Amino acid sequence: MPKVILIDTSRCTACRGCQIACKEWNELPANKTYQVGWGSHQNPKDLNVNNYKVVRFSERLDNGVVRWNFFPDQCRHCDIAPCKEIGDGYIEEAIVQDEKTGAILYTPKTKGFSKEQFEEIREACPYNVPRRDEKTGMLAKCDMCNDRIHAGMPPACVKTCPTGAMQFGEREDMLALGKARLAALRKDWPDAMLADPESVNVVYLLIDKPENYYKYSVAQANIGPMTKQQFLATLARPFKAMKA
Ligand code: SF4
Ligand code: SF4
Ligand code: SF4
Repeated sequence: MPKVILIDTSRCTACRGCQIACKEWNELPANKTYQVGWGSHQNPKDLNVNNYKVVRFSERLDNGVVRWNFFPDQCRHCDIAPCKEIGDGYIEEAIVQDEKTGAILYTPKTKGFSKEQFEEIREACPYNVPRRDEKTGMLAKCDMCNDRIHAGMPPACVKTCPTGAMQFGEREDMLALGKARLAALRKDWPDAMLADPESVNVVYLLIDKPENYYKYSVAQANIGPMTKQQFLATLARPFKAMKA
């Protein structure tokens, strides 16, 4: 059974400990970050090849009260991953799924994707996650800390979270935990919801409407649920490209 990371945004204080733990575990270098002209405490501004995780800040006025929603963004490790479906059409096993953990992994073979193929892969991702290292050509994103999981440890971001906003475990257990927490939160937060729990292995519990978070917080909020026809059309694209 796949593993699941459950992220309860009601408990997130945006301390960014998870963001730093991810960089440390993956030995990723620092980015030069800017606040001037961007007007947000979020840093860096977006996911990139040196940041597989970014805590996103959404700020708004609600009847004169400032509300902040925090969203620790990362790859969702989709059950049927559109990035992998597209990638498989170009290079076999460049993007793979670990059978035991369910993690979607980008291998060094991803260096073989052209820029245009990468754009297709990125476009296919309902959460705008894949990034490409312009120097090496390799694609980059969160790997669920697959090495740690196989060594019996939780992902680094989960381990470091001081508020318990992130939990990790068996899919069944995490979904049960998420549903129980959702029921409790709904008393105070009627718009609370689990984001795409049936199709992903990194499940977010939102306490506000998806549109009050980052644009790609929920697939349906952004692009609408992918119909079977749309999904088959996505699969057909690389096939058409290969035949051309
Ligand atoms: Fe939020 Fe936990 Fe990450 Fe801090 S470590 S930003 S509380 S999820
Ligand atoms: Fe791929 Fe995007 Fe799904 Fe991650 S969230 S597995 S990058 S499609
Ligand atoms: Fe980073 Fe590991 Fe967390 Fe993914 S699971 S965001 S690689 S620390």
